[in-house]
Amino acid sequence: MLLNNALNPVTSTVRPGLNKDPEVSIVRVALPVPLHHLFDYLAAPGTTIPAPGTRVVVPFGHSQRVGIVMEQACHSLLPTTRLKPIQRVLDSAPILNTELLSSTLWAAQYWLAPPGEALATALPRALRQARPLPQRGQASYRLSAAGRGALTTGQRRGHTRDLLERLAAAAVPTALLYREQPAWRDAARRLLGAGLLERYLEENPEPRCHPQPGPALHPAQQQAIAAVTASLGTFQSFLLEGVTGSGKTEVYLQLAAEVLRQGRQVLVLVPEIGLSAQTVARFEQRLGIRVPTLHSALADGARARAWLHAASGAATVLLGTRSAVFTPLPKAGLIIVDEEHDTSYKQQEGFRYHARDLALVRARALNIPIVLGSATPSLESLANVQRGRYRLLRLRERANARPPPKVEIIDLRRYFARDGLSAPLLTALQQTFNRGEQALVFRNRRGYAPVLLCGQCGWHAECQQCSRPLTLHEQPHHLQCHHCGAQLPVPAQCPTCASANLRAQGHGTERLEAALTEYFPSIPRLRVDRASTPSRMAMQALEIRLPAEGPALLIGTQMLAKGHDLPRLTLVAISSLDEGLYSIDFRAQERMAQLVVQVAGRSGRASHPGRVLLQTHHPDHPLLSRLLQGGYPATAADLLEERRMTHLPPYAQQVLLRAQAGTESRLQAFLDAALAVLPAHPGIEVAGPMPAPISRLRGQQRGQLLLEAESRARLHQVLTTWVPALEALTPRHHTRWSLDVDPVDLY
Ligand code: ADP
Ligand code: ZN
Ligand code: ZN
Repeated sequence: MLLNNALNPVTSTVRPGLNKDPEVSIVRVALPVPLHHLFDYLAAPGTTIPAPGTRVVVPFGHSQRVGIVMEQACHSLLPTTRLKPIQRVLDSAPILNTELLSSTLWAAQYWLAPPGEALATALPRALRQARPLPQRGQASYRLSAAGRGALTTGQRRGHTRDLLERLAAAAVPTALLYREQPAWRDAARRLLGAGLLERYLEENPEPRCHPQPGPALHPAQQQAIAAVTASLGTFQSFLLEGVTGSGKTEVYLQLAAEVLRQGRQVLVLVPEIGLSAQTVARFEQRLGIRVPTLHSALADGARARAWLHAASGAATVLLGTRSAVFTPLPKAGLIIVDEEHDTSYKQQEGFRYHARDLALVRARALNIPIVLGSATPSLESLANVQRGRYRLLRLRERANARPPPKVEIIDLRRYFARDGLSAPLLTALQQTFNRGEQALVFRNRRGYAPVLLCGQCGWHAECQQCSRPLTLHEQPHHLQCHHCGAQLPVPAQCPTCASANLRAQGHGTERLEAALTEYFPSIPRLRVDRASTPSRMAMQALEIRLPAEGPALLIGTQMLAKGHDLPRLTLVAISSLDEGLYSIDFRAQERMAQLVVQVAGRSGRASHPGRVLLQTHHPDHPLLSRLLQGGYPATAADLLEERRMTHLPPYAQQVLLRAQAGTESRLQAFLDAALAVLPAHPGIEVAGPMPAPISRLRGQQRGQLLLEAESRARLHQVLTTWVPALEALTPRHHTRWSLDVDPVDLY
């Protein structure tokens, strides 16, 4: 029943004109199921045929599904008698406009997702259900009459008291409560129960404040703004490159203000950990409007309302993470992608789209400019500058005229680092605290130690399901697999030789924290990693928990690399990044250079000059010397040249077939069969079948086939026949597989 392969050109799939033939009323519908084709249904006789982009409820197997109408068809491959009728049309007008529909289908085709699943990703969860649209307006809370009468907060304590006090001043939209009081939901539930609060929908959210003027712009900022402003109304891609603190956000703000003045919409994408309360507040204060956010921690209703607000065409700024790239923009003016190099823009499972790349496609379809900003642009984007596809805008200096932080190397071959901390690093920390300033100790590994090793026989604790070392955690004391999450007790003795001499090898953030607490017991400190700060919402409260004045110590992983402005931070100590220097991943060096620059950028943002210390066993590594001498631009240029010589992305296109099975032989049989059905492929290189870098995960054997070609068109041409052939193989093999177009890692 292959009615319409997803790899057919999108233009043939979306046809706005409807066939008026009263005899024929076959409608093609995309359903959120893992099949690469559309499904035919009958429109109810005598009713108008729903337009493309409309949600319908249709029978599917023994249940029903919400699907999206794609087109009307004159005939079906199935006899009309076997077609079932649409049960219900949910929308009077299409919920997905033509541009969003065709951009999403383009994405499905490019990243090889079933069209129905791609469309389901584009719609907020609340809109994927067979219910009418949620009411417009912004969900808000205010005191009820009873609440106003009994205004003395009286017996209330903690979060409920905070919430009552906040609402006594004014009604507050939930989006703001999420940011101001991360624990507000429980408190609200209790107070609602007591009849003291009420929830309502604010129809016309008033501007919260008057727009505030920004600082006088530097010439480089003015040039950037002038270039983008001149392109408003046409498609043009810009890469805005500037170190942290060079005033990129200032450029976004002024551009957003200009687009709003023209009555149009701005979509701002930020990486997952970049969406801090500070960022939102900065946009709202400067622009004087509420800036709806779209991210995965938002409640379904709130998210759907923000999406519908955008769909209404209101001139507005929308700020969101990866999936916000699917925001409808009927009055599009500008798209901004901040920290464009960030890998959180790539969805790593299911529909493996890349939000930055899709944003570019949408900007072209919408005929608007797009600005990709970064202190450390991806090699992909730099290559596009070289090819003349993007215009480069550079902010060379820090906006506040502070000197950039100096990166100094601590040679760990000369200094012993107990618990990951060398003497010079400890001295620098002490000096920082003595001056009343704050420091950040960075380590991209959580837990106490990455390996538990037997000092007698060399055994190390490994996850049975993944064949990877288990990480030792101390609070609470246990072993944890960072790949599958398995938790195990710590053995008292070595299971092979019974020796009690088990050693924690290496160090993670927990060990650093423990050691630093011993060295600096009186300094307030905060550890931030996925173990201590599981939710992004908790991250947003971070500013509140760090003292605004006086010395303090932050210890953490990448979660700390950006987002929060920490003005009193003057020392950044990178405990170790040596893993990235000799990794087998060809992107590891790019990532590492970006990380060093991003983490270093946290230092010295305010009135104090910053200092950055980097501990390493490999001070002579060419990447480090290049980075120290030439900074990121020179390093990136070198790495790009290397990629060109070795025919790697961005100078080659990759598609990765990942497979997993219960046994090695099943996996091998599937990968061999997959290779056998690969059509003739001149111009395409195939690597594998080979084991995945993590060859066993959650008890499954994992392997892969990597396709590489210089021509993207060539690669997709082969995929057009390979995908259906792979699908045909599936029933005969007990193997799960997926295809990843432009994979950002090969794991
Ligand atoms: P980035 O986004 O590149 O990290 P920001 O836009 O956040 O940089 O700017 C860094 C700091 O410098 C902020 O405090 C910002 O208010 C300030 N700043 C930016 N542009 C100017 C300017 N033209 N004059 C004075 N201060 C500025
Ligand atoms: Zn042993
Ligand atoms: Zn595991």
